[in-house]
Formats: sequence, C-alpha cells, structure tokens
Amino acid sequence: MTMFQRVLLVDPATGFYKTSKYAFDRYFGPVDLGIHLASQRGSLNFGVGIFAGSIFPGSNRLVVTGFSPCWQGYYVSSMGGAGLVFDNLGINMLSLVGKAPVPSVLYLNRTHGEDIEVEVVPVAVEDIWKSGRTGVYSLTDRVYEMFGSRYPNDPRILVTGPAAMHADMGGIMSVPITRGKISYVDTWAGRGGFGSAMVQDYGIVAIIYGGTMVDEDFRDRTVADEWFKNKYNLRLMQKDMEATSKYRYDEKVGTGGTFGVNYATMGGRILAFNYRTIFWSEEERTTLHQNFVVNHYLRQFNEETITAKQQATCGEPCMAVCKKMHGVFKKDYEPYQTMGPLCGIFDQRAAEKLNHHCDAMGFDAISGGGVLAWLMDLMDEKALAPEELGVTRLPRWNTTGFDLVNDSLHNAELGCELIDAILERRGILDFREGVRKWSRIHSRAKGTALHDRLVYIAFSRRGWMVPNQYWVAGALAPMSIMGKYYMVYSNDFIPPRELGRKCAERMKKELILDNLGMCRFHRGWAEELLPEVMGSLYDCKEQFLRANDVLASRLHSRNSPIFWESVRDIDYLHTFLQRKVNIDNDRNPELAVWLDRFTQDKVEAARNFWYETLKGIDESLREFF
Ligand code: SF4
Repeated sequence: MTMFQRVLLVDPATGFYKTSKYAFDRYFGPVDLGIHLASQRGSLNFGVGIFAGSIFPGSNRLVVTGFSPCWQGYYVSSMGGAGLVFDNLGINMLSLVGKAPVPSVLYLNRTHGEDIEVEVVPVAVEDIWKSGRTGVYSLTDRVYEMFGSRYPNDPRILVTGPAAMHADMGGIMSVPITRGKISYVDTWAGRGGFGSAMVQDYGIVAIIYGGTMVDEDFRDRTVADEWFKNKYNLRLMQKDMEATSKYRYDEKVGTGGTFGVNYATMGGRILAFNYRTIFWSEEERTTLHQNFVVNHYLRQFNEETITAKQQATCGEPCMAVCKKMHGVFKKDYEPYQTMGPLCGIFDQRAAEKLNHHCDAMGFDAISGGGVLAWLMDLMDEKALAPEELGVTRLPRWNTTGFDLVNDSLHNAELGCELIDAILERRGILDFREGVRKWSRIHSRAKGTALHDRLVYIAFSRRGWMVPNQYWVAGALAPMSIMGKYYMVYSNDFIPPRELGRKCAERMKKELILDNLGMCRFHRGWAEELLPEVMGSLYDCKEQFLRANDVLASRLHSRNSPIFWESVRDIDYLHTFLQRKVNIDNDRNPELAVWLDRFTQDKVEAARNFWYETLKGIDESLREFF
C-alpha cells in the first residue's frame, strides 16, 4: 500500500536527480502535488494516480501539470494509457526543474536494481523532425532506435514536434508500443501547450521510460465487484460497459466514439467556417449538417471505421476502445472538427491530410485548428492577403456549388501551408508569444481588430485558449482552467450565476478524476465510487475530498479571467441564447430578460453575463473557514 508519493526530481541542466517523498495525507495525486511543486519550484510534472496498474479501467492516465505557456496560468493536461508503463518506474511523479543547454532526450529506466537510471542525451532534433515520418513520429522512431533495446519490457516515449520549439501551443504525444511495435494510436496531452514548456523551458524534446518494478496495485476483482454491486447492482465490467457506451458504440445513433456520436446528434448546432454558421438560419445549418456531414463526412467515418470495427485503446486494457481508427489516422471529434468543418473541410481524406500534418508538427490540435480557421476567415474576408501569411491560395468557403472532395482538399492543403508558415514565421506570422499578442500588434497596424474573428478565451495579459467545440455558454466560462472540461457544456440555458456555480462543481468532479489519474470517459461511475474506494482502501475519503476542494480553490485563487475580447465570442453566446428560444423553444423568463438586454446593447449584456457567471464561480470556489 503506497503511503507516500515518490517524486523523481530531475534537473536537465546538470543531469542531477534525487527522489523525494510526500506523505499521502496532504497531497493525494498528480494534480494536487503537481500544482504544489509547480508553484514552489517552477517545475513541469508528470504523474500517475493512486490506482495506476489497478484493475479499474481508465486508471492509467499520465497527468501533466505546470505553468502553461499559452494559457499563462497553471494547467492540467493528460494522456491515456501512458501511466501504465510509468507505474513500472516505481515512482508516482517525475518533476523537471532547470533547463538542458541543448535539446535533449530524457532517458529513465528501472530495470536493473533499486535505482532509476537517468540520462540526459543531446539530439539533433531539428534534423530528426525533418526526417522519416516527420515531426513527432520520426522523433518517436529515433528515440526508440537509440534506447529501445535497453528495456526488457516495452517502454513508452513522450515526444514533441516543431510546434513546441516555435509556438506556445505545442503538445506532448505518445503512442503505445506493443512487443516492439510502435502503434499508430496517438495519445496526446495537447491542451495547455506543455510540449512548448518542455522544450522551451526545460530543454527536453522527448522522454523515454519503462521498468520492471512491480508494486502492490489493487487487483482484487471480487472486492471491486462487491463495491459495484452495492452501489449499482452491477459488476465492475457491466457498469463500465454501460458507462462507456458513447465511446464504444451507441446503438441509439448507430455509431460510436466522440466523432461519430457528436456528428450524428448535433443537427443545427453544427459549427463550421470559423463559426460563421452561428449567423445562419437553422434551416441553412441543418441542410449543411445533413448534406455535408451526415451524407458524407460522417458516412465515410461510419463505413471505414465503425462498420469495419477499426478501434483501439490508448494502451490500457479498456472496453471503451474509444480510439477510432482508419489506417494510420485516429479520429476524435475535436481535432476533426477544428480541422474539419471549422476550416471548411467535410471529407475524410482532406481532414486526414491536415490533421496528420498538424499532429506530426506537434500542435495541440484543437488550438491549432481554431487558429487555422481564424486565419482562413481573415483571408476570405480580405483582412489579410495570402502573401502576408506566406501562403499561395485563398480558402474556398463558398457553400454554393461546394465540391465536398476537391474544395475540402483545397482547404486542407491551405491549412498545411499555414502550419508550415507558422513554423517558419513566414510573412507577418509569429506566434511565439501567442496569438493575442500577435493580434494586438497587427490589429494596430491594420486598423482592424483581427481577433474579433477568433473565438477564444482570454486569460491574464496574453493567455489564450481555443474553446471546446460545443456551441454552449459554458465553453466560454471564466474559469481558472479552460479548454478542457472544467465547465458545464450542456446545451441547456442555465442562468449565468447558476452556470458559474455548476462549472465550479464540475471542476471539482473533474479534479477528482484527474487527481486519481482517471480517464473521464469512465466518469459515469469513477467520480462517485472512487472516493469511497479511497475510504475503503486507505481510510482517507474525507481527507481526499477536502484536499480536492482546497485544490479547486487554490487554482481559482489565481484566476485572472479577461472579459471576452472578441466580438465573435459575444456573438457566439448571443446566438446560442437566441437559438434556445427560437429553435429549442425554451420559455425560461430569465432567458427572455437576457435576450432583451442583448438587443439593447450586446457588449454590455455580455459583460453582465460574464460577471454573473464569474460571481457564481467565485462564490462556489472561495474558501471560507
Ligand atoms: S476510454 Fe479511451 S482513453 Fe479512456 S482509458 Fe479507455 S481507451 Fe483509454
């Protein structure tokens, strides 16, 4: 039974390392301890939850914490399955402090004896990124070639791409390796740009790790089944099957995974052409959804992926098999939305081309796609010329006579050009300090607010985040961490004060999952049952939940939200509210009042809505003793 959290501290500047222990009473997992270390030491942390290696499905996420270069605040990001191999190092967390003088690979191995072998090995990373499969993929191959034979069991490799070197939105990628075979199932800690932090602040471009350490993970299925039966009258596997059906296969809609289920059910809530569809009529939107998405984009996905049962896991044994594949391409809703309809792409071949290039270059795909859609919109509106952005063409965004295959491909090729232009800083492009700062400089020069067309959440002086791809008020809430699901994204109208409170409550629930290293796709039982398991196994349910509340208020105490800077953010909210009345027939009197205010003065109404939401957040997360 782990009664300590063991942290391996590595200074890439010197190669110096040591192990520290933190008692399992104040810090219970990778988030509360990680945020503590990040604020004390300025470290970047990689940790697993207490149930890593256990029989609980979804318990092996690798959780990254630190200061986010794009959000400009503390952030939490995680990737599926990568915690399973990490657990074999016999530590709970790796913490980087200091910066390697040249780009380097961090090698960690616990195969021979008690100590972890630690090496910091320089690599010519720019050359590697240009070679072979390019970017994150060729770096994976190279690191495996360099170190793979030193591990008796399959290791795991975390890698970054050129985006981490040249922008603030570089993610961290990893694929499962099975019996020496590197798979195509990308898993990402994308949001928050921790790849950029790893490269620019710590000099580490990749981390390879593995070992043979076996610790006492919880593996008693009879006891687990007993807990599940008491609570749900179902065994663990039965309850998990039920809770994860959306991600595997949802019979009600005849498809599966986030891509399948979201596109099958969104109808008139579709977002396309850099959100311009929010200004369309419902009929125009549903026609677009039916003709472009259901009849083509989604149909291709269903035929090639769902019917053909092309699915995999993130690397841990999991019945949800949420990774929906087509050959080397993995299809999740949000990347295939931002680098799909949001960029004017409605064909799988075209979306694969753009997503694959963006992934290879190591971008957080949601932020990357949001930015590409914005730049295309600016070009289409003639606010910027292709030459200014170092590209050769304009987008084809006219839906009349739109050729689903060829025009999608044209837009995807433009997206690929823009990615290269961002990395090479062609024309006026330079996103090293983020898009907000860039927009401030160039809006002044152009005499027009370029960011008025970007949908983003602003934080602090220059922090920014492309929101999750749901047309709802919660996606733009002024929470201390945005861009992941620390908010409510239900399609209901929720009065802003209450919305703020609900977002705060949601954040606490999501923190339970993250702090236990749990995959949120299992939240249907995990957020309720696992605190009780903490009580049964470690006698610390109340302390754990209390620490979780403290963590939430600690994150909130550093909240520096900025009122929506972009007109399109305001329109995003306004049109959402209008749609609730006009299409969903919501007769809530408070909704009518808000719409009245928007009619009188939309900026003032939005400001009041924003502050009301913040009040709800604040009153729920402020700590009183
Ligand atoms: S639901 Fe997907 S990401 Fe989560 S544990 Fe299962 S396979 Fe991994």
